Amino acid sequence: MTKVREVKCIRTRRNGIWTIVKVITDQPGLYGIGSASDYHNPEAVIKVIDNVLAPALIGREAAQIENIWQTLYSTCYWRNGAITNTALGGIDVALWDIKGKEAGLPVYQLFGGACRAAVPCYAHASGSDTQALADDIRRYLDEGFPVVRCQRGGYGGGGFLSTGKATRPANAWGDGLAFDDEEYLRQIPEMFEHLRGELGPEPKLTHDVHEHLRPQSAVTLSKRLEPYDLFFLEDVLPPEQIAWFREIRQQCATPQAMGELFVSPHEWVPLITERLIDYIRVRVSKTGGLTPCRKIVGLCETFGAHTAWQEGGDNDPVNQMAAAHLDLSSWCFGIQEENHFAPEEYDAFPGHARLEGGHLYVDERPGLGIDIDEEKAAALLDPDSAATPRFTAEDRRADGTVVRP
Ligand code: MG
Repeated sequence: MTKVREVKCIRTRRNGIWTIVKVITDQPGLYGIGSASDYHNPEAVIKVIDNVLAPALIGREAAQIENIWQTLYSTCYWRNGAITNTALGGIDVALWDIKGKEAGLPVYQLFGGACRAAVPCYAHASGSDTQALADDIRRYLDEGFPVVRCQRGGYGGGGFLSTGKATRPANAWGDGLAFDDEEYLRQIPEMFEHLRGELGPEPKLTHDVHEHLRPQSAVTLSKRLEPYDLFFLEDVLPPEQIAWFREIRQQCATPQAMGELFVSPHEWVPLITERLIDYIRVRVSKTGGLTPCRKIVGLCETFGAHTAWQEGGDNDPVNQMAAAHLDLSSWCFGIQEENHFAPEEYDAFPGHARLEGGHLYVDERPGLGIDIDEEKAAALLDPDSAATPRFTAEDRRADGTVVRP
C-alpha cells in the first residue's frame, strides 16, 4: 500500500510564477508532479497547499484519487475558489502521475487509451494590421497547425480608439488607447472580411474576445461574424454574464468556446447541459485537476460539446502534459490551445510533450511522462525578475471605466 509521505511546492520560471507540486510517497523513488501555477498569486496557492491540503493528504493511500479529491475539495469548507482549486489541481495531477507510474502505464492509458495519434493544436497569430496578421496565419498553417487564432495586436487586441478619436472628459484618466465596444464590432468583422478575401474559405480560424464586451455587443459580434465561418469564437462574454449565451444561440450559429476564467461547475454545467456552447475552455489546474476534467469530458460527450483546454503564455509544461493526456483519450476532444517554452525551460522538464508541426506528441513513459529537474528549475529563477510587478491587463473605456478581462 503506497502512502503519501511528503508534499513539496517547487517554484520556477524566471519570475517564479510556475508552481510545481511534488507528491512524494513512502515507496523508494516514487513520486508524482502536478501544476499549481497561478500567475497572479503563486504565494496564496502555496499557502493553501502547505497549510491545509498537505496536512490532510500526508499518510493517505495515494491510489485513492477519487476519495482524496472529494475529501480535500471540502477541506476548506468554502470551495470552487480559483486559489483552492489550483492547489487541489496540482495535487490531483500528481496522484494520477503516481498511479500511472505504479501501473507502468501512461496516464492516457488509464483513461481508456488513445482516441487519436497525436494532439492537434491551435496557434496564436497576431499582427498590427490585417496584412501582417494574414502573413502570420499563413506561417502557422504552413507549419502544420490545423486551426489558427486571429488577433489584432497582443492581449485583447482590437476595439481600441486612438488618442485623437476617443471623446474623453476634461479630467480624463490618462491618454492611452480607449476600449470601445462599437469600434470592436466594426474592426473584428472587417478583419475577418479581409482574412477570408486573402486566405479563402478553407483555413480554420478563431478569435478571442478576452471577455471585454458588454453582453449585447457579444450577441451582435457573434451575429456579424457568422458569414466568416469561424472554427469558434472564444470568451465572448465575461463569466458573470453567461446567461446571455441563450440570446446568442437564438440568433446565430457562430460556434462558441468559453471558460478560460471558469473555476466552478456552476459555470460550465449549465452551458454544456443546455447546449449553449460548443467548446469548453477551462484550464485543467483551475478546475481542480484531471479528476473533475474527466467528468467534464463525460458531460461534453453526453451533450455534444467538445474540449479545448486552455493553455497560454503563463502555463507550465506540466499542466500542458496533463491536458495532452485528456486530449489523447477523450473522444469529444475538439482542439488544444498551443503553448511553447524556452529551450532552458524545456530542459528543466525532461519528458515534456513535444510540439511539432502543429501537433503535440506524448511519449510512452509511465505516469504523466514528464519530470522536473529541480536543479535546472532552480537555475531558471531570477530574483530581480521575481521582484518586478506581474503584468495585469488594465484596459479602460474613454471615460475611464475599467474593462474586465
Ligand atoms: Mg483566451
